[in-house]
Amino acid sequence: MNAHSTLVPRPRAAKRPAPRRRRRGLYAARTLLLGSENAFRIGPQIKALEDQGLRVVKCNLGEPDFPLAPHIADEVKRQIDLGLTHYCDPQGILPLREAIARTVSERRGIDVTPDRVVVFPGGKPPIGLTQQVYCDPGDEVVYPSPGFPIYESFTTYLGARPRPLHLREESGFSFGGRELAPLINARTRVIILNFPSNPTGGVVTRAQLEGIAEAILRKAPADARVYSDEIYEDILFDGNRHLSIASVPGMESRTIIVSGVSKSFAWTGGRVGWAVLPTAEEATVFKNLNINYFSCIPAYNQMGAKVALESPQSRVEIARMCESFRERRDVMLEGLNAIDGIRCLKPGGAFYLFPNIGGMCENLGAVEAHRGLAHAERDRTSPSTLVQMFLLWRHGVATMDRRSFGRIGSEGLHYLRLSIATGLGDLREGLVRIRAAAGDRAGFRAFIGEGRHLW
Ligand code: PMP
Repeated sequence: MNAHSTLVPRPRAAKRPAPRRRRRGLYAARTLLLGSENAFRIGPQIKALEDQGLRVVKCNLGEPDFPLAPHIADEVKRQIDLGLTHYCDPQGILPLREAIARTVSERRGIDVTPDRVVVFPGGKPPIGLTQQVYCDPGDEVVYPSPGFPIYESFTTYLGARPRPLHLREESGFSFGGRELAPLINARTRVIILNFPSNPTGGVVTRAQLEGIAEAILRKAPADARVYSDEIYEDILFDGNRHLSIASVPGMESRTIIVSGVSKSFAWTGGRVGWAVLPTAEEATVFKNLNINYFSCIPAYNQMGAKVALESPQSRVEIARMCESFRERRDVMLEGLNAIDGIRCLKPGGAFYLFPNIGGMCENLGAVEAHRGLAHAERDRTSPSTLVQMFLLWRHGVATMDRRSFGRIGSEGLHYLRLSIATGLGDLREGLVRIRAAAGDRAGFRAFIGEGRHLW
């Protein structure tokens, strides 16, 4: 036994000077490694322009511009009136978990029980929590790039090793087992999939999913987890049907299926998302994280989510919303492809377009301007970021740059993400402005001279 581990008080250390800790600054090292979601960060810039009386066309945010359907809103209000306003089950209230288990099972042809379901404040929290649960420093996380920025953000934050799977425009921003297999090894702990995809709108074919599953079953450790982010499962066009890796034989026992109310029911403010874990035991680990972080989420919203999942009216609303998105997609696709220097693929789902703006970057002199920046500045930006800032400050269109969807390996890739979760009138105005910007070389040069190109 250690001499100092008894109840005898240790001699006071006052006589000896306390060991000096080397100063390392205010924040823990990992704090500086956490990334962000720029779609939120750009808000103050937009507001600054609007405060000057300018109208900004907002193609930056990924939130459906439709109101919450009355049958869901009414249920939330009813539950508040009934007094469902207290703490509740940290794993998610049972009626909602039952509804999730039923819908997830039916749509994917699997058999989920409510004890495998955990409810979170949105579809975002399980991304970081999953990496916390399964990854030690040095473990590897495979994720799509371009992809939702929080995947990479948490990987670096936790000291895990990021293994971006670079999606190629030539393959419709999709991939199969051949592209995935080389990234998987004995240190792989989490493999993130996201179909339909943010930011590309890419979807996956059954054959590709089977190839992905084959690569995972062949190469990944048996206890590595697939994180299948299916938050856009209902936003599909052209007869595409949602396909989940969990439906492929052998995959359900390795897959965490994630979805929520934010996109399907245009309810980003509801903050209800969920994960189906491979086992009930894993679900209890997440439940305990919920207890540690936020205790539980509002029960009245969870009852609203139950109605959203179960009411036939929801399917009518989703169909209407998808038809609007499809119409906007077609208008934007045609308009963007008609602009010199822009080339855009047709997305099969979600509500984003992800045009290649390589030609526009060249035409405006953005590649050259980027090359000419001081070293420290150059690392903080990219040609498509310069165009993004130019579009915002000079032409009043808010978009997102390629770097906002995974930085690692994004050098030399010139893309923008445009959200079509904005009315058709605004989108048409956006097209007019983007076309004007694409031909405004002199304006671009002057803009770079003004010093507002960094953010
Ligand atoms: N995953 C993806 C791919 C997303 O695009 C988003 C939202 N933009 C989320 C998760 C997070 O959704 P929520 O708002 O429900 O947290």
